[in-house]
Amino acid sequence: MPVRSGRRGDADSSRGELGPNAPSHSRTFQHVFTFPHSVRTEPLQIRNFIDGQFVEPVGGRYLDNIEPATGKPYSQVADSDGRDVDLAVATAEKAFAGWSRTPAQERSQILLRIADLIERDLEKLARAESIDTGKPLSLARTLDIPRAVANFCFFATAILHTESEAHVTDGVAFNYTLRQPRGIAGLISPWNLPLYLLSWKIAPAIAIGNTAIAKPSELTPMTAYLLCEICREAGLPNGVLNVVQGTGPNVGAAITAHPKIGTISFTGGTVTGRKVAEACAPLFKKVSLELGGKNPNIIFADADLDAAITGSVKSSFANQGQICLCGSRVFVERSAYHDFVERFIDQAAKLKVGDPLEPTTDQGAMVSKTQLDKIKFYVDLAQKEGGKIALGGSTPELINERCQSGYFFQPTVITGLPVSCRTNREEIFGPVITITPFDNQEEVIGYANDTDYGLASSVWTQNLNRAHRVAEKIHTGTVWVNCWLVRDLRVPFGGMKASGVGREGGEEALRFFTEAKNICIAK
Ligand code: NDP
Repeated sequence: MPVRSGRRGDADSSRGELGPNAPSHSRTFQHVFTFPHSVRTEPLQIRNFIDGQFVEPVGGRYLDNIEPATGKPYSQVADSDGRDVDLAVATAEKAFAGWSRTPAQERSQILLRIADLIERDLEKLARAESIDTGKPLSLARTLDIPRAVANFCFFATAILHTESEAHVTDGVAFNYTLRQPRGIAGLISPWNLPLYLLSWKIAPAIAIGNTAIAKPSELTPMTAYLLCEICREAGLPNGVLNVVQGTGPNVGAAITAHPKIGTISFTGGTVTGRKVAEACAPLFKKVSLELGGKNPNIIFADADLDAAITGSVKSSFANQGQICLCGSRVFVERSAYHDFVERFIDQAAKLKVGDPLEPTTDQGAMVSKTQLDKIKFYVDLAQKEGGKIALGGSTPELINERCQSGYFFQPTVITGLPVSCRTNREEIFGPVITITPFDNQEEVIGYANDTDYGLASSVWTQNLNRAHRVAEKIHTGTVWVNCWLVRDLRVPFGGMKASGVGREGGEEALRFFTEAKNICIAK
């Protein structure tokens, strides 16, 4: 009998098992898991997608898939293991021969069809994403799903405009560079922006001629499943994209350890990233790691304060603070500090925490009970470290009947903490930020860099020279000036220090998923 693991982080999650040997309770699944039709998202059983077919996991096991807004299971997801990864590798290997030789124009057309179909199904996908993650439906509709469309469009057309280098060795030889797809790519993504991030990996990997095995977070498997249906409808050849659902230790680890998966693109936490690096190093895999952050927002007194406050509220609490790029440490020049804090709190207090499916909701639920408990732990810690809760700090009043067991937390602002404390150094990944005053430019650059992380930052000032000077000295992969989360898909994206290794985006992604080969022809 295979060992069954419950869904991570949800203490009240009952375990399910489907398939031929499943206990009888699972066959009554559809009767057990009932809720209003308007809230239902198909399917109830999320299976793997291998060789163009939806298939049961080899072990026949499933995990409950919890809706964070209600704290209740609403579907089940395959609890796969290494045997499912082996099947995906076999089909991806077979498909690679044909797909890597398919003309770029044909690959491009298929990816554009996928983009069109995601756009056609925007409402269904947005709803699925909202239910699976707890994020407001309005956010999924305007950010997550449109970005998935953009990802496919971008790489579908990018492959029609590639260039290759040539180097002439005077009088001796002529060199040119071939950039060839590497084979099977393993793509592992987190739960915070499920389709957005997974499609950011799938699109470049397959556009350039690789085949792929993707693993979404087991907490948020639904839109990856729906994407597979779309890929089938778009005519993507069987085996080009395979999705193996399940947990990190079972499926993610099997992908990183598999000798035939030579390329790994991973987005997730820094601790997991280290495990991925350790698994890949002895096998000499090509690895891209997009990891955690503890991002600074720096507000100088000369900033347009209205814009800085609106931008900082957004960067602090978008997606309940569960975006790797969220600014969780806000530094404000002392002369503007009190004004900023007061107006920031006024604005943040107006954010409506509510049922993610309600159109007026600004803040939905945390993705899991584990995540909610982690946030509570850090709010307690902040108080022990001497912090003052200036806003929020607890779970909200009853939202509605449907959401009474959901994983909600108020937008929370903490002041009065030293820069060096744990609250200011460790990634919380929730709607909890600190605000700290500073006295001069050098001091705040020191504060901004006083962390193991180096993902993103934002600087608010109307002094252009200062913006350049500060941006140059901050150790983060992205520096936004007078804006936040403005993303041009052509720019290099990634982190420094413990925030990652490598860059995604545009040309960087196409280079990552290809092998450069120099061909030297004697004259
Ligand atoms: P995790 O690191 O827990 O998980 C990320 C993915 O890795 C999941 O699919 C997970 O599976 C899988 N995984 C877990 N263990 C292993 C393993 N041993 N080998 C291979 N894969 C494994 O991150 P979270 O899902 O909790 O996501 C939040 C984190 O992601 C935050 O730290 C955030 O900052 C970071 N992030 C970084 C981004 C960036 O671009 N730099 C963007 C977005 C988020 P499962 O969940 O099924 O266990």
